[in-house]
Amino acid sequence: MTAVELGLPVVRGTPDASTRPNTPGLVDRFGRVATDLRVSLTDRCNLRCTYCMPAEGLDWLPQPEVLSDDELARLLAIAVTRLGVTDVRFTGGEPLLRRGLEDVISATAALRPRPKISMTTNGLSLARRADSLVAAGLNRVNVSLDTLDRARFHELTRRDRLHDVFEGMAAARAAGLDPVKVNSVLLRGVNEDEAVPLLRFAVENGYQLRFIEQMPLDPQHGWDRTSMVTAAEILDSLATGFTLTPEPAARGGAPAERWLVDGGPAVVGVIASVTRPFCAACDRTRLTADGQLRNCLFSQSETDLRAPLRSGASDDEIADMWRATMWAKAAGHGINDAGFHQPDRPMSAIGG
Ligand code: SAM
Repeated sequence: MTAVELGLPVVRGTPDASTRPNTPGLVDRFGRVATDLRVSLTDRCNLRCTYCMPAEGLDWLPQPEVLSDDELARLLAIAVTRLGVTDVRFTGGEPLLRRGLEDVISATAALRPRPKISMTTNGLSLARRADSLVAAGLNRVNVSLDTLDRARFHELTRRDRLHDVFEGMAAARAAGLDPVKVNSVLLRGVNEDEAVPLLRFAVENGYQLRFIEQMPLDPQHGWDRTSMVTAAEILDSLATGFTLTPEPAARGGAPAERWLVDGGPAVVGVIASVTRPFCAACDRTRLTADGQLRNCLFSQSETDLRAPLRSGASDDEIADMWRATMWAKAAGHGINDAGFHQPDRPMSAIGG
């Protein structure tokens, strides 16, 4: 097994850009090609999930630091038309809080070759917006939901809004977003008993559920490997209610390992970022709401694209900065490495 497969960081620091092959795409030193762009549209959120944000929120990015719609559209155009990005996912923070979201989506949908456009959201207000988002060009949605219990949802998110999430998911499905994916994080002593009910709910409603292992990206830096609910535990729990068989289709760059539920056609995914890292297949590049480029969720450095954008850099120059950033991508996220340091930015400010 190689270091890349193990998710080890191997070489950090600035690699020699002169060894990079002269190719337009976002290649790195380990043979990976990034084609999937995660764009955070805001670091703000209207939930306060205990593992993601403190009750009082965080120090939000000052508005002048956030990319304008025009700046964002320019970076998206560079990514798609020059750098080979084929998939764009909008996230945050909560992307539905971004004013003009539909305009950002339609500008993205107008690019050629037209990228696939998806969004990760908490689902609040999706019931009102699903039709206009689809009309703008949204292709797919992932809705985050960690519990089916109203009181528990209130406690976990510090908001009594479970009903809005249910309505949002149903509206997404009715608007033709298919499949509606549901993302769940199980936390020990909080909702670890809900693996089976969550999957039952997803199967009954035609949603596609994926469990995500909790990663060290909390603002409190309180993540603890020993209290994380692992993929193996999740699968053991699911086996008490369902028969799971590995899905025959190739996994490709997808983070989720997938299983057929009771013979199919329903499937369930488990994203085991910590215990079964999939860095070797990573095809992601990430842009924060304030225009910082990251080559990994866990990278310690960022490339500022906002300053050059605002000081007259050409599209060619920005594309070259993007290529150099991805060339420097480490082999793995390094979570399981003795010297691992959690990045300063929490998940909500990077874009989950
Ligand atoms: N607000 C949107 C939402 O709720 O989906 C998008 C941003 S949110 C940060 C994206 C996803 O990251 C959510 O599914 C959330 O549960 C997950 N998340 C947050 N912190 C996490 C962590 N430390 N480890 C794993 N997933 C996390």
